[in-house]
Amino acid sequence: MTADVMTDAQLNNYVQARSDTEQAQGAEMFMGRPDRWFADPHWLCGNGHVSVRYLKSEQRGDLCLACLRPVRLTFPEDVERTSVADEVDEAQ
Ligand SMILES: [Zn+2]
Repeated sequence: MTADVMTDAQLNNYVQARSDTEQAQGAEMFMGRPDRWFADPHWLCGNGHVSVRYLKSEQRGDLCLACLRPVRLTFPEDVERTSVADEVDEAQ
């Protein structure tokens, strides 16, 4: 675990704020999110993992494949931020 972990509420606020910004800029919306997010879907969890895939769970909803925390649809340019060290280290 890292110091960067977001609570579910923070996760919701994060994607909502980004969605609101794009909507204010005139983005086409679908189901409360910018249309373009669905064209290139990425999923963010509270541990900062971003993936184009997630695990569908009947009991717990949509989960991160890396850590099994709930995921939210996020914007296509979002990047992983699992720790400060990962952001500095750009080698992949
Ligand atoms: Zn995760």
